Amino acid sequence: MAGKTICILGGGSGGLVVANKLKKFLGAEHRIVLVDKLSYHLFNPSLLWLMVGWRRPEDMKRDFSLLKRKGIDFIQAEVSNIDFDKQAVLTTKENIKYDYLVISLGADLYPEKISGFKEAAYNLYQLSEVERLRDSLPDFKGEKVVVMVSSIPFKCPAAPYEAALILNAYFKKQNKNVQVQVVSPEPQPMPVAGPAMGQAVVSLLNMSGIQYMPNTTIKTVKADKKELEAADGKSIPFDMLVGVPSHGAPAAVKGSPIIGETGWIPVNAKNLQTKIENVYAIGDITSIPLPVGKPLPKAGVFAHLEAEVVAHNIAAKIKGRPASAEFKGDGYCFVELGDGRAGFSKGNFYAEPAPAVSLYKPGRLWHIGKVLFEKWWLWKWF
Ligand SMILES: Cc1cc2nc3c(=O)[nH]c(=O)nc-3n(C[C@H](O)[C@H](O)[C@H](O)COP(=O)(O)OP(=O)(O)OC[C@H]3O[C@@H](n4cnc5c(N)ncnc54)[C@H](O)[C@@H]3O)c2cc1C
Repeated sequence: MAGKTICILGGGSGGLVVANKLKKFLGAEHRIVLVDKLSYHLFNPSLLWLMVGWRRPEDMKRDFSLLKRKGIDFIQAEVSNIDFDKQAVLTTKENIKYDYLVISLGADLYPEKISGFKEAAYNLYQLSEVERLRDSLPDFKGEKVVVMVSSIPFKCPAAPYEAALILNAYFKKQNKNVQVQVVSPEPQPMPVAGPAMGQAVVSLLNMSGIQYMPNTTIKTVKADKKELEAADGKSIPFDMLVGVPSHGAPAAVKGSPIIGETGWIPVNAKNLQTKIENVYAIGDITSIPLPVGKPLPKAGVFAHLEAEVVAHNIAAKIKGRPASAEFKGDGYCFVELGDGRAGFSKGNFYAEPAPAVSLYKPGRLWHIGKVLFEKWWLWKWF
């Protein structure tokens, strides 16, 4: 068996797991190369805790250079293009020839898509912006905080609702009379998970006194007037704006033959194979249509479980065994309430005719579960 090169693009929730698992499954004669533009992996869910000072950036980051001791080659470079005919990845540092390719570049953020967003909003999905938000909270003297969702799809469908709940609890603890409001183009929170899930999240918002404006698409952010202008002409005032920016496929694959009509990479829903042989895509960069008529949500839990399947199947192919692992569409989600409790749900998103999702009563144990998961994640993969 000649040595193969498996190149993994992106060291986020999906790519990091593929690299680790392949190293475990394959011998040293095979080269596992992980490429990321950043020097570190960031555990995204902890951004919401960082926002209110419960984490420091160093608590939620790990340097990719640590992977060297496991025998994984890490190249810090920006992927600029992929030449599928030549089986080569073009990066700002070097071109990498591959036998197998896993694309796990996630979703890029396009805050500029809504005029005024960059000037007025704290970008909830960017580390430096969340640090800026954390630093501004103690001195906040306003009365109204709006958490806005720019467009669908966006990663972690629970995140804006969790952010609102955590901020609301933070202000209560500070004895500050602040009205928190969520404004979203979605018809309900986490729509793919079904109406019961939406109602459960809306009840949590109601119980906390958080206002909710669903079905509201923001056209412009008027930074000078501190006002959102909705597509239906409504004006929504704010003193502080926390925003989920627009998402899109990463620049490196935009216009590439691998992109489908949805603007994301279409894959086989069970084995994550793209239309190009030996090229796989996982996580947020993919679009997987569900029986319910909507795409699989973009979430780390799916990127992780898809990664396990892809690593298993690439290793099996290299060893001449059947590539039989399948992603079954299972997922779970914690919803942080900001007061030391969290809600939890889990289910199967490939179920027909609609995802079968169970909800569990919020409690401290789920919050502890999320903290333990964070610790486990950063220990397990580094
Ligand atoms: C605030 C927040 C909270 C969240 N909470 C949860 C949660 O509780 N549960 C959950 O399941 N999910 C959660 N998510 C979503 C989760 O983080 C993503 O869905 C998941 O990380 C997607 O994994 P991925 O591997 O597809 O992409 P990512 O993890 O985004 O990784 C992509 C990687 O590719 C790199 N990259 C991108 N472009 C290039 C390029 N051109 N060249 C080189 N490198 C590149 C990036 O630097 C990045 O490291 C949350 C997200 C946020 C922002």
